[in-house]
Amino acid sequence: MDSVVLPACKVVFIVGGPGAGKGTQCELLEQRLSGGWKHLSAGDLLRAERTAGGELGDLINNKIKNGELVPSHVTVKLLENGMKAAYLANQTTNFLIDGFPRSFENQDAWNDTMKNHSVIFMLDFVCPEEVLVGRLLERGQSSGRSDDNIEVIRKRFRTHQQECIPIIERCAAEGITIHKIESDQTIEQIYSKVSSLF
Ligand code: AMP
Repeated sequence: MDSVVLPACKVVFIVGGPGAGKGTQCELLEQRLSGGWKHLSAGDLLRAERTAGGELGDLINNKIKNGELVPSHVTVKLLENGMKAAYLANQTTNFLIDGFPRSFENQDAWNDTMKNHSVIFMLDFVCPEEVLVGRLLERGQSSGRSDDNIEVIRKRFRTHQQECIPIIERCAAEGITIHKIESDQTIEQIYSKVSSLF
């Protein structure tokens, strides 16, 4: 992918606690919006990459199993490669980047190499923690994910509080518009609020 040069793209960052519905809404937006929006989930890209094995696979696996963040240069590279692949396949230049940025380090790594893309706004899904725990435990019965169990769920919430929430404030201070989305509602109610922003 290194030889592919991406034109300036439109990006929407989607953040929020684990289980807040980011992925579900991004899938719907990808299917239903006109204009060719591509959903790229940082978590999905990392989960796919760890199956490659080796040292990098082990590192990603350990971070995910502990509810901690994977080093940002790894995540940003995977996002960049995902964008390039979508551009090559369909000339896509509109991206829903789900689960990013989750830390200051994430945003710094983005700004190092991806600053030419414009972040048109950020969606921040907010939902009471007890609702999120219920959703994640239910998902854990069929997801097969190593981090959908109560012990790791608690760690993921802690990571979210400590690292992710502060970055939302910094993005706002840098001039990115943040839309807070109350996500303790039905999928279609949330979709109608979210889609009206595009
Ligand atoms: P998710 O699929 O969004 O619930 O993310 C699952 C796990 O992937 C997280 O708990 C982290 O270990 C890792 N991860 C996801 N997004 C990021 C990110 N932006 N930066 C670093 N690690 C991430």
